[in-house]
Amino acid sequence: MIIVLKPGSSDADIEDVSRRVRDFGFKTHLSRGEVRTIIGVVGDDRAKEQLLALQSLDCVENVVRILQPFKLASREAHPDNTQFKVNGVPVGGKQVVVMAGPCSVESRAQLETVAAEVKAAGAHVLRGGAFKPRTSPYAFQGLEEEGLGLLKETSKRTGLPVVTEVMEPDKVEVVAEHADILQIGARNVQNFSLLKRVAECGKPVLLKRGMSTSIQEWLLSAEYVLAGGNPNVVLCERGIRTFETSTRYTLDLNAIPVVKKLSHLPVLVDPSHGTGHWEYVAAMAKAGLAAGADGLIIEVHNNPAEALSDGPQSLKPTKFAQLMSELRPLAEVLGRAL
Ligand code: PEP
Ligand code: MN
Repeated sequence: MIIVLKPGSSDADIEDVSRRVRDFGFKTHLSRGEVRTIIGVVGDDRAKEQLLALQSLDCVENVVRILQPFKLASREAHPDNTQFKVNGVPVGGKQVVVMAGPCSVESRAQLETVAAEVKAAGAHVLRGGAFKPRTSPYAFQGLEEEGLGLLKETSKRTGLPVVTEVMEPDKVEVVAEHADILQIGARNVQNFSLLKRVAECGKPVLLKRGMSTSIQEWLLSAEYVLAGGNPNVVLCERGIRTFETSTRYTLDLNAIPVVKKLSHLPVLVDPSHGTGHWEYVAAMAKAGLAAGADGLIIEVHNNPAEALSDGPQSLKPTKFAQLMSELRPLAEVLGRAL
């Protein structure tokens, strides 16, 4: 349920209604819009009669049942777009955010080289996997804690915040100590114990869509993080499984306007995993922005031919710089900035 307050309601009104709701045994999530304040109510819907009675208060405009199964992630509960900053980098606002870097952190030299290149080209956030979710147990599994250390050092040196994947609940703490954004990968989007732990970590979460996850399931996964007390979630469309084999996955750009309608959370597009081939990355990065994405996450490698993971879909730094220069005027036409 949501409680919509009348425009001009005072702080005392908001606190009074919130206290009454909490006294009924519900949790409240406040959303202060430019015109209206909405109190999201989470708890047992069977007790809704008590909430409906709050319509008699002067400051309450309406008490409405949220129709979507995801509540806090829905636009009904939070009409304005979610915006937040990661070490000064805005996410979800007018500025498009670009996260770039290697699939895996492979060595100090590799990470430093790629970080310097993506920074020079205008990327805002450095990506790089330390714990890698590989399909084969014989494939490179990542530098793990050593990789986290390299990410933190490189972040300090370049000033770029870092996004990296966490795969297990027990690693959330150490990853959160080293990274600015915690990535939940496609294969873990419904790892609910992991979602509950990242909800408590105090850092923003980049939640990838699973390759076989419906939009509703994806938003329900985001709901776990929001309901656990972490409002800073950014979604990422990275391609779904279809019958098509020309590309690694099928980048579902339909998902962007659909999610934008259903939810207030920022959404990124990952054209690297979405296509699996570097030649298609630029086209789908542009298409992602045109579809309304709030940003991109792109794999860049100084030597893709020898990359330990995802070389075929990685852009060389020069190609990435070229793409950035093409994205800038596009962002402007779309009423965004880059
Ligand atoms: C990655 O970002 O390198 C990655 C493994 O992504 P996904 O979870 O989307 O496959
Ligand atoms: Mn990858």
